[in-house]
Amino acid sequence: MKNSKTCIKCGGNNIVMIKNDGHPDGTYGNNIQCRATVLSGVVFVERYICCDCGYTEEWIDRSDMAAILNSKKIFK
Ligand SMILES: [Zn+2]
Repeated sequence: MKNSKTCIKCGGNNIVMIKNDGHPDGTYGNNIQCRATVLSGVVFVERYICCDCGYTEEWIDRSDMAAILNSKKIFK
């Protein structure tokens, strides 16, 4: 949905993106806590929602993959 702007479940194209607003509490969007520090240890997640059927999809920026892979808080 991120790239095609088309829902993979229903084929709808009424897609919206909820971008994290930078708050570590995930007020808008979603967060993954990778380190103990609240402010610098957060990876932001972008959420895409199909407003035709309600299906959601989440994406993380590729620049944050090292933080995910090196986190001791995430099980591999
Ligand atoms: Zn849909």
